[in-house]
Amino acid sequence: MRKKLIAANWKMYKTPAEAREFMQAFLPLIDGHDRDEIVICPPYIDIASVIDSARGTNIKVGAQNVFWEKDSGAFTGEVNPSMLLGAGCEYVIVGHSERRQYFGETDDTVNRRTEVALEAGLGVIACVGEVLEEREAGITEDVLRRQCARAFRGISARKAAKLVVAYEPVWAIGTGKTATPEIAANAHSVIRGEAEKSFGREFAQQLKILYGGSVKPDNANALMSQPEIDGALVGGASLKPDSFAQIVKW
Ligand code: PEP
Repeated sequence: MRKKLIAANWKMYKTPAEAREFMQAFLPLIDGHDRDEIVICPPYIDIASVIDSARGTNIKVGAQNVFWEKDSGAFTGEVNPSMLLGAGCEYVIVGHSERRQYFGETDDTVNRRTEVALEAGLGVIACVGEVLEEREAGITEDVLRRQCARAFRGISARKAAKLVVAYEPVWAIGTGKTATPEIAANAHSVIRGEAEKSFGREFAQQLKILYGGSVKPDNANALMSQPEIDGALVGGASLKPDSFAQIVKW
């Protein structure tokens, strides 16, 4: 059995004070909950306050991006994997569709970020997913295969031990439209097949594949009950302590 992982992606929301307030309200709501792994990915600026508030709990913290240069250097505005580890992060999201859409992220830069972050010892939540036009054109599976093959390229199964993949159909992100559990389960099996090609069968069987795209308290149970869905990456509904707690407790 793969333990489910429920991750919050706060995107560009919350000041450090607001992050602390969230944690004060959230922690009592999930006290003692250890069925699922819980990860919060706040903006860089809030990482210290979330880590500080989460001390002594089983909540882990992740960043929303990382640079592919592992050594310090003249790269204004960037943050490398050692900095995230030094701050106490255990995870990082890579290749989110908003980064692909607005910031020029490509399959190749996703690969570079994934490789250095894994090598440094971070858990990587690598995001893949088709846009609406691709789904309507019937090429979803090709897109997922391409995104996965390129993201995994040149990475060994040993190095990829802490890899997690998030299937996030872009048409479902922030739109209120959710993939049916069947659509998600089908995409997940395509991703698992691609992981098997890159890393072998044993690795693919234990790989966690999350679903993301308008996960809410009222649909979390149907999605999380699918054996192929190993957890959720939650945007909008992770911003409020009570709704995120309800999702965690699906
Ligand atoms: C996301 O940002 O990864 C996401 C899935 O957003 P939302 O839950 O708001 O659709």
